Amino acid sequence: MEKRILVTGGAGFLGSYLCDRLVVEGKDVICLDNFFTGTKRNIWHLIGRPNFELIRHDVVFPIFLEVDEIYHMACPASPIHYQYNPVKTIKTNIMGSINMLGLAKRVKAKVLQASTSEVYGDPEVHPQREDYWGNVNPIGKRSCYDEGKRCAETLFFDYHRQNGVRIKVARIFNTYGPRMHPNDGRVVSNMVVQALKGEEITVYGDGSQTRSFCYVDDMIEGLIRLMNSGDDFTGPVNLGNPHETSIIELAETIIRVTGSKSRIVFRPLPSDDPKRRMPDISLAKRILGWEPKVGLEDGLKETVKYFKELLC
Ligand code: NAD
Ligand code: UDP
Repeated sequence: MEKRILVTGGAGFLGSYLCDRLVVEGKDVICLDNFFTGTKRNIWHLIGRPNFELIRHDVVFPIFLEVDEIYHMACPASPIHYQYNPVKTIKTNIMGSINMLGLAKRVKAKVLQASTSEVYGDPEVHPQREDYWGNVNPIGKRSCYDEGKRCAETLFFDYHRQNGVRIKVARIFNTYGPRMHPNDGRVVSNMVVQALKGEEITVYGDGSQTRSFCYVDDMIEGLIRLMNSGDDFTGPVNLGNPHETSIIELAETIIRVTGSKSRIVFRPLPSDDPKRRMPDISLAKRILGWEPKVGLEDGLKETVKYFKELLC
């Protein structure tokens, strides 16, 4: 019997690629989503497959299912979406995690948490290693997400210590690719759409802040390897591309890759916007034998292709 695997947030950007990969591997896949930021378009091609099921459900409420593994991805990831209803974002992170951990405890499933580099906040240590505790503002506009994810990590480790639940915690750094939401305000989707429409490319602040951009295929491989790693490895483990890029450099690369005539304009920097971010991935390399393979230009070309089709 193939494993039955639950993917919460399975109609979202990362979740839908996880569903794709697990369906192809022949797993029995249950995709659960409330379609807040996800869309049926992302999983349309899977509907009707005998090993794929779709459930419309909100993780804030309990659910009873028989599963072997849970990829807990449900949570809006872009600042615009997670700040739209911050109280809901916290509920999704805390109550959603409690519900998934309770489910995992009851049916003895293994559960992976999609945590984030945001747990490091505006980091004072560079690059970020898993043993750095972070620098997070607990009362700012990003806190509903950052502190929500931090508390979710606490819940994962408490269920592990208290109830022996098998957990895996991935700290995901900025990931991009086809199927990102075109209006979610994240930098790659924003700039690619602006470049393709010939609109001004908005750089927040002076563009010297940095991020490290990981292509979606690399991220999915990392998440699958983490789930399949030995039970004694819980993480947290950084998953991301260690190549640091400034936002202005990203804007210039996107202009080059799209061949756009758009010009760059500068807009105010949002509050608590982290200045630098780059993962130390030595733990993932050592334990999972994982590192990203797709360079920024190649990943952007695929992303641009997707948005071109979406926009026409
Ligand atoms: P996304 O917004 O595309 O996907 C999130 C999915 O969760 C959507 O389908 C949405 O409808 C669903 N969802 C939201 N709230 C829900 C709820 N209460 N109940 C059920 N479903 C709900 O975002 P993504 O980029 O695919 O991110 C997936 C996960 O990875 C998130 O937990 C996010 O925090 C984490 N993450 C992503 C990145 C990144 O760069 N993409 C970075 C760090 C962490
Ligand atoms: N950003 C930007 N222009 C945009 C959107 C975002 O300059 O149109 C900047 C944003 O201020 C941040 C970086 O790009 O410094 C990454 O933003 P994103 O929202 O993608 O991710 P996060 O800040 O959560 O890492």
